[in-house]
Amino acid sequence: MKAYKKKRMKVDNTPYLPPDGVVYIMDSLNPERPIRAVVLKTRTKNKREIIESIACPVCGNPMKWDDKWEGFVCEKHGKRAIYEIVQPKS
Ligand SMILES: [Zn+2]
Repeated sequence: MKAYKKKRMKVDNTPYLPPDGVVYIMDSLNPERPIRAVVLKTRTKNKREIIESIACPVCGNPMKWDDKWEGFVCEKHGKRAIYEIVQPKS
């Protein structure tokens, strides 16, 4: 599993806000296409913006970052949904 591998490699998975503030997320259980995320809350750490909360694209519930799943998790609209941040292509 991707999340497991990333954890073992000790990659910094902090969800930083990109400089342009545009964030795309993808349902990790149904990865069809990236969804433009609505960022609800950020905080600053070491002079970088970190995304603290994103609105669930299905039900609008404010989702918090979950270190275990390495994504934003919503459990409010039925089965659990995990949204990974889609890294911009470089
Ligand atoms: Zn939801």
